[in-house]
Amino acid sequence: MDIHEHQAKDILAGFGVPVPKGGLAYSPEQAAYRARELGLPCVVKAQIHSGGRGEVGGVKVCKTEAEVRDYAAGLLGKTLVTKQTGANGKVVHRLWVEEATDIAQEIYLGFVLDRKSERIMIVASGHGGMEIEDLAHEDPDSLVRMVIDPAAGLVDFQARELAFRLGLKGKQIGQMMTTLRACYRAYRDMDAMMVEINPLAVTGAGDLVALDAKMSFDTNALFRRPQVAALRDPAQEDAREAMAADNGLAYVGLDGDIGCIINGAGLAMATMDMIKLAGGEPANFLDIGGGASPERVVTAFRTVLSDPNVGVILVNIFAGINRCDWIAKGVVQAYKEVGLTIPVVVRLSGTNVEEGRRIIRDSGLPLISADTLAEAAEEAVKARPQPVAA
Ligand code: GDP
Ligand code: MN
Repeated sequence: MDIHEHQAKDILAGFGVPVPKGGLAYSPEQAAYRARELGLPCVVKAQIHSGGRGEVGGVKVCKTEAEVRDYAAGLLGKTLVTKQTGANGKVVHRLWVEEATDIAQEIYLGFVLDRKSERIMIVASGHGGMEIEDLAHEDPDSLVRMVIDPAAGLVDFQARELAFRLGLKGKQIGQMMTTLRACYRAYRDMDAMMVEINPLAVTGAGDLVALDAKMSFDTNALFRRPQVAALRDPAQEDAREAMAADNGLAYVGLDGDIGCIINGAGLAMATMDMIKLAGGEPANFLDIGGGASPERVVTAFRTVLSDPNVGVILVNIFAGINRCDWIAKGVVQAYKEVGLTIPVVVRLSGTNVEEGRRIIRDSGLPLISADTLAEAAEEAVKARPQPVAA
């Protein structure tokens, strides 16, 4: 789960990271008020769940209150498309107004989970400001990587070594050590998956300050982090994925037109492969889970259909814990309740399969039955609405 920059700054400041003073604004008037409060010049920043805002006009240093007001008016309600948002972009609903910093150098600092060493890893560079992907491409030699031993935690000599390798001097060494310790504790104590400060600026006066902050959290740990879960902003999420999350469905939105309702993550992946092999494109990954009731099947249908690109639905169930008759009842119920107008291909196998197939057959609905996974994928590709030739 991602959070906003201002929320990440608030959390990190609580652990000891130096951040500039700032305040939230939901209207141009509030932004101007913040500017008055903080003093000018100040920086007005779009709050969306994405980096790369600077490149697309989402961050601006303003010199007058009128400039703050005008810029805020143009930004609020606007959709920003960055390198990280995907083509649909994200809508700006709030702004963060912050005192401007005089930047002498930009440092990149990231804490990530290194799956290879199974440890938290620090990635840093004295050449920050740009996104890590670009940095890795343009100046890979500047990247410093350091793995943290979970038993010892981040130890002082490591933090000091990192500060030296970034070329920091004097009071900056101590400030860097404080920042590193704070990020590490925030990461570990709050079940984060990523902490990124980019840029961590060296100011004209030679002090370190976090000008940008990003945190993302392990959704599987949210149950024990209510204060983190409360920071969720559904307005920044893919509407389809937000709906699925609310209903406890494992769902990932994709770009194709074949909606998938499948049990088991492995079978869902295999089904998406088979769809591709048959020449189609899946609209989503969806694992309905074990022991799915007819009501849950209906919810899955509603979620898949919330994507306007879906032109056909493929239901593929290999029932072990599930029961084919329940799934079949759910399909029939969904057809009636949701008022389906698009073709549905159903492939059932496993527990109570005969009863499941009978329910589908006797429903009198135009459901397309398939016996095997390959057949189901081919039927779905055949049944999708044909693209109109230009
Ligand atoms: P991002 O583009 O979404 O990563 O947003 P950032 O918060 O990193 O801002 C983008 C860029 O704006 C930074 O890399 C800085 O160069 C610049 N910037 C941000 N805050 C300030 C500031 O206080 N003063 C100055 N001069 N530049 C700033
Ligand atoms: Mn940034």
